[in-house]
Amino acid sequence: MENAVSKVVIIGSGPAGLTAGIYCSRAGLEPVLYMGSKFGGQLMMTSEVENFPGFRDPIMGPDLMERMKSQAERLGARLIQDDVTEVDFRSYPFVIKTATEERRALSVIIASGANPRRLNLDSEMRLMGRGVSNCAVCDGFFFRGKKLAVVGGGDTAMEEATYLANLASSVTVIHRRDSLRASHVMQKEAFSDPRISFLWNSAVTEVIGEKKVEALRVKDLKTGEEKVIQFDGLFIAIGYDPNTKIFSDQLEMDQNGYLVVKNETETNIEGVFVAGDVRDFIYRQAVTAASDGCKAAMDVERFLKETQPAS
Ligand code: NAP
Repeated sequence: MENAVSKVVIIGSGPAGLTAGIYCSRAGLEPVLYMGSKFGGQLMMTSEVENFPGFRDPIMGPDLMERMKSQAERLGARLIQDDVTEVDFRSYPFVIKTATEERRALSVIIASGANPRRLNLDSEMRLMGRGVSNCAVCDGFFFRGKKLAVVGGGDTAMEEATYLANLASSVTVIHRRDSLRASHVMQKEAFSDPRISFLWNSAVTEVIGEKKVEALRVKDLKTGEEKVIQFDGLFIAIGYDPNTKIFSDQLEMDQNGYLVVKNETETNIEGVFVAGDVRDFIYRQAVTAASDGCKAAMDVERFLKETQPAS
């Protein structure tokens, strides 16, 4: 264990964590940021990003993350490429552990993100960012006038389908059961949109295409029959898994595992703050995550001023 106590430890290196790193550095808090074993979060799986302000032309997701990382580094954040495996928020200073080190901190910002669930098809991963997407708001614009499929039957799927219907020539929702899980109001909106149709009791078993999505192999789960249907894009909207397992017995979370916040960034433990998709199941944008990171950093600064006036 390092003897010195860090003023703030940030967990996560997506837009939320790195923005928190930038703001904490500029506030003189000398942040230590655990990036995870893989740095960058969901944007590392994204191709062109066209909606992050400040870039006139599209920027590739990994390039954007690399820039945020070097900005945080230049300003003085200490970035460590390792997974946090355990935390103790019951003692103070808080304890943060990885497989190789243990650190104490006066405050923590959790920005560990959420992972979109996958269909777990090889072809899905091969064509990710080439017609396969998890985010209609991010990628829908690239599919204007195209024929699209959305997989899922929850609120996210209905939201994605409704959003895409405004851009695409048609949207087909492919769902594994014969009824939706989505809230009544979202179902109603999707059902009343003539541009959205539904394929019930169906599963995508293969994404077909060499360099981009050309078609989907879809299985009827009742009859077992498979058919190939032409599509230009596939939006997978089967839910997200927030990365909150290591906090499960210490921080308040909702039934889906998202951290519960009050006053924008605070958790049930004073001094532990939250930013980004680990608590946000509605907006899930790089820019909203970055905004959250800024808020959490400013709240940490205020917290430390109040509790450690001499530091
Ligand atoms: P969800 O409610 O868990 O729904 C996931 C959907 O994907 C379900 O219909 C599920 O099918 C299907 N699915 C799961 N795994 C699958 C697989 N391997 N293959 C095919 N289909 C699969 O997730 P969500 O829609 O992301 O919503 C999560 C939470 O966020 C919910 O509480 C929701 O209300 C909330 N949310 C709110 C808003 C909003 O307020 N604007 C927007 C989005 C989400 P089954 O139905 O058969 O299980």
